Amino acid sequence: MIPITSVRFGHEEEQAALEVLRSGMLAQGSRVAEFEQKFAHMHGVANAVAVNNGTTALVAALQVLELGPGDEVVTSPFTFVATLNAILETGASVRFADILEDDFNLDPEAVADAVTPQTKVLMPVHLYGQMADMGRLSTIASSRGLRMVEDSAQSHGATFEGKAAGSYDIGTFSLYATKNITTGEGGVITTDDDDVADRLRVLRNQGMRARYEYEVAGHNYRLTDLQAAIGIPQLDRYSDTVAKRQANASRLSEALSTVEGIVVPRQLPGRTHVWHQYTVRVTPEAGMSRDEFVTALHDRGVGAGVYYPRLLWDYDAYRNHPQVMRAEAPVAQRIASEVVSLPVHTGLTEDDLAAIPRIVRDVVEENR
Ligand SMILES: *Cc1c(COP(=O)(O)O)cnc(C)c1O
Repeated sequence: MIPITSVRFGHEEEQAALEVLRSGMLAQGSRVAEFEQKFAHMHGVANAVAVNNGTTALVAALQVLELGPGDEVVTSPFTFVATLNAILETGASVRFADILEDDFNLDPEAVADAVTPQTKVLMPVHLYGQMADMGRLSTIASSRGLRMVEDSAQSHGATFEGKAAGSYDIGTFSLYATKNITTGEGGVITTDDDDVADRLRVLRNQGMRARYEYEVAGHNYRLTDLQAAIGIPQLDRYSDTVAKRQANASRLSEALSTVEGIVVPRQLPGRTHVWHQYTVRVTPEAGMSRDEFVTALHDRGVGAGVYYPRLLWDYDAYRNHPQVMRAEAPVAQRIASEVVSLPVHTGLTEDDLAAIPRIVRDVVEENR
């Protein structure tokens, strides 16, 4: 089986973890500070604040903006559930806007229509490793007086017209086990706003400014030095990681672009794609459903994943939720029934890169 994700650590991570273990100091300390500096530098921002996961990164970002009941956030219904859960945790409501077929991200026109006088935050999700149309979304945010929180959990180091994910206002990242950079669990918040960064640092540490000086009711959102130590070597070699993912994506697209019924993903002009996922669409011309396609791939040893099979409001937990406001999202609705992600990770061999498109072609053609 060619797995959909594969995570391998090198000698550097082993060494770094050992050093922290031997130091006897595992909690947040100098490794976290170093990780934050490198992460901020990589994204061209003044501040990075490391936290214990990508969901708390979102929650903390919304908390420092003092979001609460009565406020609204506009985001995509086609994302991981954490995006929604974080908003609901603050007490705010969510209004969904449709997405674009080209990049699977928020459609700026739909966003403009979804904004109300209650809207405080615009939350684009940079899905699969490619950023949303931040040019048009920033224009909407500034003309309507909205703050922007970019859910960049899947897009470490991605850029839009040369500007990195997480650098527009406040950005959040995940360091979960399957993400492009991982510490097992972990998260980061990026911002150029020194005041926001300062308040985030206080919030993550029980609201404590100096020892036993509590400024706000805070939390324990801290990352550990043991985790940060594992992340640092990954930041150091991240450009190689992305180059390999990009090369793998190009190989797959070259071979798959002629398969009828399969639409390959595109890197849009002016954007760099970091290929967290390589996601194709199975269209009616394939003559089979997406789910049949996935089963056939699994039967032949290709690990394919579906991110995400349903829109968020289409679950019992949210269907009648008082803070969740549905919208018409015909594009997102269709896309959720068409997407399949194929392996694109750095562990793929030459044989894998030849086998994946061959098996996809066989599955579609034998079905005809
Ligand atoms: C992974 C992910 C998150 C949450 O990150 P965790 O570290 O798992 O809490 C949030 N949003 C998106 C889009 C994600 O993919």
